[in-house]
Amino acid sequence: MRVRNKPWADDYIRDHQDYIVEDAENWVGKWSERFTKKQPIHIEIGTGKGQFIVEMAKQHPEINFIGIEIQKSVIAIALKKVVAADLPNLQLVHTDGADVDTLFGKHEIDTIYLNFSDPWPKKRHAKRRLTSPKFLDSYKTILKTDAPVVFKTDNRGLFEYSLITFNNYGMYFDMLSLDLHNSEYMEDNVETEYEHKFSAKGPIYKVEAYFNK
Ligand code: SAM
Repeated sequence: MRVRNKPWADDYIRDHQDYIVEDAENWVGKWSERFTKKQPIHIEIGTGKGQFIVEMAKQHPEINFIGIEIQKSVIAIALKKVVAADLPNLQLVHTDGADVDTLFGKHEIDTIYLNFSDPWPKKRHAKRRLTSPKFLDSYKTILKTDAPVVFKTDNRGLFEYSLITFNNYGMYFDMLSLDLHNSEYMEDNVETEYEHKFSAKGPIYKVEAYFNK
């Protein structure tokens, strides 16, 4: 997703430091201090404009949520939603998801969501895909041993690549849907911005993958 530069983003982020972290490396091992309650932490990498993570935080006050986004203009839009929602269990982090293993302690995280991640279709860009083996190394480090990577996409090529990568990595699939919106798993589904846009055009794919059984 590319959005036009938002000239107000810097000031807005600076004025709302209670909701957004720009110095994530200073919070390693102390993430619970960003929240009012010490409880399980779920993160979304590539949180975009924030629709999913805000709704999840509203529906699950028993979980602390962290949305990670690399683009400043995009996370500034998410931040507006977060400020309006004013939830004690939601924080944003402006950083590259490639660094998650340096931002969180070992087994500190209870779930990772990857929603409609950029597909990077060219083979030479495969390493940038959020489901590539190098990212899985990081996810395995920060996730609790029984915790999932929950992945949704409308991109069949990326989904196939991800299933193969997860499988080659020795991961296990708990749920797998090739048409989420016409499946039994829709009941708990929280829609993302991309999902809203693309579910009318074709199937949405979803998998929950675990490093351990
Ligand atoms: N998850 C949202 C949704 O489903 O509507 C946004 C999907 S959009 C296609 C992908 C988002 O991931 C973009 O906002 C992009 O900037 C972000 N992104 C891509 N690579 C990233 C990375 N390495 N770390 C953090 N965010 C990343």
